[in-house]
Amino acid sequence: MDLTRRGISCPTCGHSFVIDLDYSRGSQDYYDDCPNCCTCYHVRLDYDDIEQQARVTIDADDEQYY
Ligand SMILES: [Zn+2]
Repeated sequence: MDLTRRGISCPTCGHSFVIDLDYSRGSQDYYDDCPNCCTCYHVRLDYDDIEQQARVTIDADDEQYY
């Protein structure tokens, strides 16, 4: 397990919160709920093996990209 905490902002209400990211399984693509407004948001985790750092992309469920 390689857990890292990352602060994000909800794409719907703008509420800032922290999520736990597990890089051990490589790149991920999943949905979670905002703890403030309970709206589903989309988390995309891209892990770069060469640079050894992860990029996290958060967007709303309506496929609007930031
Ligand atoms: Zn929210």
